[in-house]
Amino acid sequence: MRLKYKRAAAAVLAAVTLSGCAGRQTEEKLQSGDAPAGTVPAVTSAFVEETAPETTPAAPETTAPITTGGPESVITATETGEGYTVYDRSETRYSTDTVNIRELPSTESKVVGQFNPGDEANVTGYTSTGWLRISYNGATAYVFGEYFSEIKPELPEQDVVIPEGYYFSSPSDYFFIVNKENFLPEDYAIETDFVQGSYELEIVAAKHCKDMIAAAEKDGIDLKVLSAYRTVDYQKKLFERNVNSRMEDDGMTYDEAYYDVSINIAPPGGSEHNAGLAVDIIDRNHWDTYTAFEDTKEFEWLYAHCAEYGFILRYLKGKEDITGYIYEPWHYRYVGTEYASAVMASGLCLEEYIGQNMT
Ligand SMILES: [Zn+2]
Repeated sequence: MRLKYKRAAAAVLAAVTLSGCAGRQTEEKLQSGDAPAGTVPAVTSAFVEETAPETTPAAPETTAPITTGGPESVITATETGEGYTVYDRSETRYSTDTVNIRELPSTESKVVGQFNPGDEANVTGYTSTGWLRISYNGATAYVFGEYFSEIKPELPEQDVVIPEGYYFSSPSDYFFIVNKENFLPEDYAIETDFVQGSYELEIVAAKHCKDMIAAAEKDGIDLKVLSAYRTVDYQKKLFERNVNSRMEDDGMTYDEAYYDVSINIAPPGGSEHNAGLAVDIIDRNHWDTYTAFEDTKEFEWLYAHCAEYGFILRYLKGKEDITGYIYEPWHYRYVGTEYASAVMASGLCLEEYIGQNMT
C-alpha cells in the first residue's frame, strides 16, 4: 500500500483558520483538523491522491573524464590496474543517486551492490579515471565519483509503504494504521469506557488515558479532553453533510467535493477517533489559540509523558504529506505501551515508523 498526498499546506491552514472562525464552539474548532462537528468552508486546494511512480531511476554511469579530485600534492599511487591508478584517500562520501557498486573501476565490471541516495560510502581511494575505491561489506569495490557528494544530500520525498499485517485486525490490536486510505471494517465494534465527562475511548485506551490525566493533575497540569471516540456512523453523517454542501453550494462534482472535504475530515472509518484510540486534549484556557497549544506547559507535559501511557503525538509537523493531516499538537493516539516510547523517540510519524521498522 502506498500513500502519497500532495497538497498546498497554506490552503489547508487557511481552511482550518476559517473553520475556527469566531462564534464556533471549542469542540468544533479543535476538530477542524480531522473531523469538524460543523460544516467547514470549501477550499481550493490541490489535495490529490497520486499513483506513486513505480520506476526507479537507472544507475547513471558515464565515462566522463575526471574534472576534480586529482592528486594535489605528493600522493602515492598504491595500486594500478588496466588503464587506471588508484591513490589512497580516506573519507566519507554520500551517494546522490541510485548508483551501482562494482568490483573494478569500469562499467564493464561486475555489479556487487547498489547505493541509494543518501547512503554513506567509506572511500579509501580514488582512481585517475574518476572512480572511488570504497570499502564495501568488508571488501574493496568501486563507484563512479560523479554521483557522490561530501554533504549528505537532501533526500527526495519517499513513499511510505505499510506492510501487510499493520492494518486493523482485532479489537485487542492497537498497533495499526487507520488513516484516510486505510479504513476500519464496517462492523468495527469496541467496548468503550468514559475518560472525562461524556467522552469515551476503547476500554484499554480509556484506562491509560485516565491514568495519564490523573498523573498530569498531580504535576499541576490540568488536561481537558475535547474529543475522543466518534462512531463510524457519526463520521459518515458528518462527512456526507459536508460533501453535500460542497456540491449544492459550491457546484462541485462528487469527486471534487469528496477530496475537498477529506482535507479536513476523515472519511467514515478512516479516522482514529472512529477506532476509539484517539483523544484530542488541550488546555481549555488556550482553546481560542489552539494552534499555539504547543507553547503551553500542558503540551510540554503531554509530549514528555504520553508514551508512558501508550499514547503518541500522531500528526507531526513536517509529516503532513504522509499523514494527510496538518500538525495537530492536541491529537494523541493510543498504540500501546509496547511501542509508544520507540515511536515517540524516533521522530517519525506512525506510517513511517511501521513502514521502516516492521517489515
Ligand atoms: Zn483528533
